[in-house]
Amino acid sequence: MPYPPYFTETHDQFRAMVRRFVAMEITPYVRQWEEAGEFPLAILRRMGELGLLGVHYPVEVGGQGGDYFMAVVLAEELSRCGAGGFPMAVAVQTDMATPPIGKFGTPAQIEHYLKPALSGAKLACLGITEPNHGSDVASIETHAIRDGDEWVIHGSKVFITNGPRADFMTLVARTGDAPGYQGLSLFLLDLDLPGVRVMKRLNKVGMRSSDTALFYFDDVRIPADRLLGNEGQGFYHIIWELQGERLIAAAGAVGSAQYAWEIARDYAKQRSAFGRRLSDFQTIAHLLAEMATEIEAVRQLTYAVAWRFAQGEVPAQEIAMAKLATAQTANWVIDRAIQILGGHGYVSDWPLERMWRDIRLNRIGGGTDEIMKEIIAATMGLRTE
Ligand SMILES: Cc1cc2nc3c(=O)[nH]c(=O)nc-3n(C[C@H](O)[C@H](O)[C@H](O)COP(=O)(O)OP(=O)(O)OC[C@H]3O[C@@H](n4cnc5c(N)ncnc54)[C@H](O)[C@@H]3O)c2cc1C
Repeated sequence: MPYPPYFTETHDQFRAMVRRFVAMEITPYVRQWEEAGEFPLAILRRMGELGLLGVHYPVEVGGQGGDYFMAVVLAEELSRCGAGGFPMAVAVQTDMATPPIGKFGTPAQIEHYLKPALSGAKLACLGITEPNHGSDVASIETHAIRDGDEWVIHGSKVFITNGPRADFMTLVARTGDAPGYQGLSLFLLDLDLPGVRVMKRLNKVGMRSSDTALFYFDDVRIPADRLLGNEGQGFYHIIWELQGERLIAAAGAVGSAQYAWEIARDYAKQRSAFGRRLSDFQTIAHLLAEMATEIEAVRQLTYAVAWRFAQGEVPAQEIAMAKLATAQTANWVIDRAIQILGGHGYVSDWPLERMWRDIRLNRIGGGTDEIMKEIIAATMGLRTE
């Protein structure tokens, strides 16, 4: 057991199983998916068959009944495919769009949305960000107006992962005139309804095996029972969701940094220059030592915070710290790993250039570095207002 007390033998066996699955069924194909701009939906169904999409959900809602550290293991191990896009698409399915259904969903919503998502039969996406409002969630303009037994939705969402092919969206929309955080609600929105328009598949620096969409909603009518959770409580529901999302992003970043470090270490031990192995140069050996130290520090922070989350706490300050520190460290580590490989690090024969492009998003998505610092500062009482 490498990391007691967080991981048991069950986690270690699960880790070994996921590592084999990633090596055999994801890594060999990931370049092809990156070039295609999307992963095949069959791999999601395969993950559903293997029970990999609901590891920490109760059995009654279609999950595997594992604890939160199973999700941490999954996120770390998926990163070892050497790309961020597919793991991000999976994280949207398992830890972004679906947790609010597990927590606030009615039995019918669980049957119709959560269970098919956890089996891989339906693709889910999460709609928070809008063209005019990203970090400033309280300013969301997309709105839903009650009309008899229906809600009528107007507005738009942007940067929606899985969006171009998703079956449904967990949507944040305004349902009242109350300003700011008040008056937001969550909805489950089928994306084949009249009035839903997917405008385009967005081209990106990285995360290319994950497709990203811009949506417009024009007079989209959904039954009243598609409201998820309590009307007017959507902000609080989604803030809860974001905590889990940030922790999974942190675990994924730790996995990416670790994998990049291993690639750099192996390369440094076999590559010769000036008659010596690279790892014999103190500069390189010390850099690898420093990279390993930084990874270990953020790994331990992530595990410690995940432990508190698994016990039912929601330590927003420390979750923000873990998200911030892992994103910055993984960016720093992967950049140095490229340096150790020299020109080989820069070409796509090796996964590092892709990992370097992909990891950049961790400093933006799910709350930017600056927003994480805002949360940390605010929860420390540093603001006077
Ligand atoms: C590939 C990709 C996938 C994504 N997937 C999804 C998804 O599935 N669903 C979804 O809803 N969203 C998704 N997003 C959106 C992502 O969460 C947002 O991009 C992010 O929250 C930042 O919002 P923004 O881009 O509007 O930037 P803005 O909020 O406009 O921020 C711009 C800059 O200003 C800074 N800033 C803003 N406010 C403050 C402040 N108070 N103090 C200091 N600095 C500040 C930011 O840190 C940033 O540097 C995705 C984005 C990308 C690129």
